[in-house]
Amino acid sequence: MLGIYIHIPFCLKRCGYCDFCSSIADEGKISAYAEAVVRNIENSGCKGEKVDTVYLGGGTPSLLSEKDMAKILFAVRENFSLSEDAEISIEANPGTVSLEKLEAYRRVGVNRISFGVQSCKDDELYMLGRIHTFSQAVEAVRLAEKAGIKNISCDLMIGIPGQMLSSLEESVLKLCGLNIAHVSAYMLKIEEGTPFDCEKIRALVADDDEAADMYLLAAKLLGENGFEQYEISNFSKPGYESRHNLKYWTGEPYIGFGASAHSFFGGKRFFVPEDIDGFISSPLQKTVSEDDSPDLLSEYIMLGLRLVRGISLKRIDALGGSSKSFLRAAELYTRAGLMHIAGDRAFLTLNGFLVSNGIISALIDSQH
Ligand code: SF4
Repeated sequence: MLGIYIHIPFCLKRCGYCDFCSSIADEGKISAYAEAVVRNIENSGCKGEKVDTVYLGGGTPSLLSEKDMAKILFAVRENFSLSEDAEISIEANPGTVSLEKLEAYRRVGVNRISFGVQSCKDDELYMLGRIHTFSQAVEAVRLAEKAGIKNISCDLMIGIPGQMLSSLEESVLKLCGLNIAHVSAYMLKIEEGTPFDCEKIRALVADDDEAADMYLLAAKLLGENGFEQYEISNFSKPGYESRHNLKYWTGEPYIGFGASAHSFFGGKRFFVPEDIDGFISSPLQKTVSEDDSPDLLSEYIMLGLRLVRGISLKRIDALGGSSKSFLRAAELYTRAGLMHIAGDRAFLTLNGFLVSNGIISALIDSQH
């Protein structure tokens, strides 16, 4: 079934490490943007399709007023065949929610919320340029629960400038102490052109070995506290995997609305340019082709090996590849304990995840 992604490119303040498409805007502009999203949903080329996940990402979707959130989700329901048990997720900044707002979101169908908590240490949050403190994050989780949103996820950042193993441990354990069902644990990546792209910050960031120790520690602690890893950066209580994000890794179709939103639909990959004003003023969103005939075999290997359950050898053959060549190339990694082959499945181990880019590109090369 189809997933819908809606990009909300507005934030109260830009964080120093972020290169996502977002800008600071007043309520009027955010509402005009929401109108444009609705217009595009009403006129999309895949109207009537069956949909079982809706994901509002950003930016900061929790900056949407109750009314704008209602309009967008109403448009989704009116123009798509939304399944009764659809997962409707929003990303939220802990510094931007109130009980009233969360209750209103819940009433219009939001049933999963992902808070960008990042750390339990206020000095680390300050370093990242975040607008919230950890106590605000704890309160935000409590309010979401009170509003009836039971499926709560928190983002955790690994490799924050100045972060130590001990402070990471404290952050993981404090997150595990909250009543949440899911944790996304991302390594900080210094993106070109961001304020973090400078020597001063680089000098404070963990080197590769330290970052590897941090990742392994986070995975171990999350596992010990009931969060099962299902993807390189994602951990959940049983049954609480992100159904929407799983679509990206398993090659299911999704359609994106909003500036910079990506789509995989009708066998093609395309995206909307990162022009927020252009998106608001155009009658319909412009799309740019990313790939008219994506190499599905390479994508299957690249995305599927992010998952703990890995990929199927039979599927490699079905997609026109050679499982024999794959297994020959994989031998080096299985001997090094970085990969496992079990029956029809091939998957990376936790240590394999640490060097996944190199392994995945070698395995893709084995198919050419
Ligand atoms: S709140 Fe999120 S999207 Fe906005 S600037 Fe910070 S990291 Fe980027």
